[in-house]
This record gives sequence, structure tokens and C-alpha cells, in this order.
Amino acid sequence: MKLISLVPVGRIARSHMEILAEGLAPSLQASCRVNADRLDIDFAYDPLRGQYHSTAILKRLRSMPGTDGARLLGVAEVDLFIPIFTFVFGEAQLGPANDSAAVVSLHRLRQEFYGLPADVPLQTDRLLKESLHEIGHTLGLRHCRDYRCVMSSSPAVENIDLKSAQFCPACAERLDWSAEHGKAV
Ligand SMILES: [Zn+2]
Ligand SMILES: [Zn+2]
Repeated sequence: MKLISLVPVGRIARSHMEILAEGLAPSLQASCRVNADRLDIDFAYDPLRGQYHSTAILKRLRSMPGTDGARLLGVAEVDLFIPIFTFVFGEAQLGPANDSAAVVSLHRLRQEFYGLPADVPLQTDRLLKESLHEIGHTLGLRHCRDYRCVMSSSPAVENIDLKSAQFCPACAERLDWSAEHGKAV
């Protein structure tokens, strides 16, 4: 079954989660639901960096109750990192089939982060693209060289704005709901 469970990670407005679920469902032709329980993320905080370790969050996400049989997408508002990078917009991990998880954060998708006035539609669009990208990794996709494809890599927010919220035909054909094993940002 094509089922995505969106898990609130730390404090995040439920409205963000619901709008995202509505955006994801048609793009993935999947059922998307918002999980009732949220994941507390104090354990993932790194006081030296002032950021949250996304790999640690991914591990904990998979033990959340009520998420059996679904691919998981954690949605956060805090700044995420993995040790080799300054920050990540998100991270994905493939476990055994139907036990995969991804996490994304709004933190660096907001215009305010860059000292600009808030732009909610733009932030919503960026969150949808980054969510599709990370879920794409859990469905076996790697980075795409087509800069318009949602699977192209985005080192900066400008790259996110350049790409579309769609998989290119080649990536769309490779989406594999039984994909297993792998790790990507
Ligand atoms: Zn592609
Ligand atoms: Zn990626």
C-alpha cells in the first residue's frame, strides 16, 4: 500500500503538516496522513552546534507508535545537521521495505532565515519540494542531473526555487515502493 505518515518533529504547527499532506498525496499518488503523536527531539540537540542531528531523529522516528506499514516523513522547524555538513534541509534513510524514514525542516526554507520578509506560499512550495525529494530517496531514487527535477540536489535554497515540484519522467518511472537500503540527503 502507498501510505505516507507525516510525523510532527518537535514543535510545529499542525496546519503546516496538513497543507503538506494535501500537497504530497497527488504528487505521489499515495495516502498521506498526519500522525497524532509528535516526536520529542531534545535528545537530538547538539549544544556545541546549536542544531539537531537529523540521523538521530531518523532512528527515533521509526520507533514511533501508529506508523506501521507507512513510509515516514518527519517534519521539523529546527535547524538540522549531519556531522559532515554545515546543515541539511533534510535526510532520508531506507530500512527494510515499509520501514523507511525521512526528515525535513522548515528552518532554512523560510525567507526570514535569510533576513527577508516572510513569504508563506514560497515556504510552503519549498517544503513540498524538499519533502518530495526526501521521500523520493526512500523510494530508491538518487540525485538527478535535470535541475528542474525534484530529485536534483539542492545545496542552497536558490536551487530549490529553480526546480519543479515534480519528478522528471525518468525518475517518475524509477519510483519503487518496495525499495530497500540506502542513505541520502
Ligand atoms: Zn529526475
Ligand atoms: Zn538528496
